[in-house]
Amino acid sequence: MKGLVKRLVAELARVWPRGPRSCERGYILAALLLIPSPAFAVSLKIVRPEPAESLSLPVGFTFVIGTVTPADSKVTCNGEECDVEDDGAFIGFVPIRCVQDGVERRGKICDAPFEFIARHGDDETKVIVSAMSPRSPSAREKPDEIFEKPKNIRVKNWLWIGLEEPRLGDIVLVPEGATLKAKSSSASSYRCRTPLGTEIPIAKADSEIVDGVDEGAPGAWEISTPDRETVKIMCDEWTKWKLPFKGKLWGLRLFQEDGRMRVDPRVEHPAGKLAGLRVCLDPGHHSDSGAIGPRGFEERESTLLISREVARLLKEDGAEVSFTREENPMPLKQRHDRMREAKPDLVVSIHNNSVGEGQDVRKRHGTQTFYLFPWSKPLAESVHHAILDKMGTDDLGCIQRNLYIARFPECPAILVEPEYIILPSQEKKFMNPDYRHKLAEAIVDGIRNFVEKKDIE
Ligand SMILES: [Zn+2]
Repeated sequence: MKGLVKRLVAELARVWPRGPRSCERGYILAALLLIPSPAFAVSLKIVRPEPAESLSLPVGFTFVIGTVTPADSKVTCNGEECDVEDDGAFIGFVPIRCVQDGVERRGKICDAPFEFIARHGDDETKVIVSAMSPRSPSAREKPDEIFEKPKNIRVKNWLWIGLEEPRLGDIVLVPEGATLKAKSSSASSYRCRTPLGTEIPIAKADSEIVDGVDEGAPGAWEISTPDRETVKIMCDEWTKWKLPFKGKLWGLRLFQEDGRMRVDPRVEHPAGKLAGLRVCLDPGHHSDSGAIGPRGFEERESTLLISREVARLLKEDGAEVSFTREENPMPLKQRHDRMREAKPDLVVSIHNNSVGEGQDVRKRHGTQTFYLFPWSKPLAESVHHAILDKMGTDDLGCIQRNLYIARFPECPAILVEPEYIILPSQEKKFMNPDYRHKLAEAIVDGIRNFVEKKDIE
């Protein structure tokens, strides 16, 4: 900085030989000192939290990520030091400070500022990011509206609604045209009762209010998958089916015919090899961006690049590949519709992992694979182990979970989370075409092993 000022003063003396008067000289020097020197200034780019992002504040800790230049700067957030990579990407796991009227209140629900400081030699820069609790007054949704008389809600699309705990994993299937009674509504959904007495939210976007319609017809159905031995399907209070699952079922087709629901167990297997196999790939995210790494690499871009590589390898072996989305934003509901249209033999949804507040992913990271229906579990296990073997990642489990994309009963459908894009070292891998190629090979190995073994059974 000093050298630069000297050079500028010398340059001024050259072009302005008689020199300015002393007070002018003072102004010029002051102005020169205020010009930041781009070669030395520390700069910070914060990726998370975003300004005014909603965070679950009562958990106490959260992740902060971003990049700093120069890369050998020190970064702290709320007083905690962040780990900085060679290229300046950083991650920190920091306490959430709740400050109200300038006073820190631990564990209170309030808007929380994050104070980032980056230091490099004598240079220092500070960035304040405000984030808020979902329960803070500025982030709260409108309160529920309770209807004086229940309203009839007609469902416009086939809906698959997952029940939350304590019945995690159970699905309510609501066919198109079903009419349900709603007693209340929130900003985005109606709370309805199914003929089986279960309360479910129906999105306003998927339904309309109708007058003068009989209650409950044609009804809603529930699918339970508590274990891999049976699949229980209940159409109404008189009809209950139990389908034994002996490892032979490839999926269930459910559809409405003459106002009644039909369930077709799918037992035929594809040929036992990749050739001719119809695989539907779901590159995670877009229209939402999904997770993001410290350098700003987005999960939606990463998953699309990996999926294209998986598709290329599958096609080399003769498989037919479809996508639920490519460049254009595609909401989850439409991606489900595209899956159904593709009539796939398998569905693989590809994601890059992230974490919610409160968990320190620097200490526990690896591969997770999810499935919902019992006939999806062998595919999930096969792809999961192929990734562990080839990529050498830690095993965070093959988990039955009620995820939207896994709620596809017609064939084995799984979701893979190979590694955590939120970690600087792992984001860097996802950005590398060689890594994506190796990962795609692992996924294809897993699919191949599953299909070939399935044929022997
Ligand atoms: Zn994701």
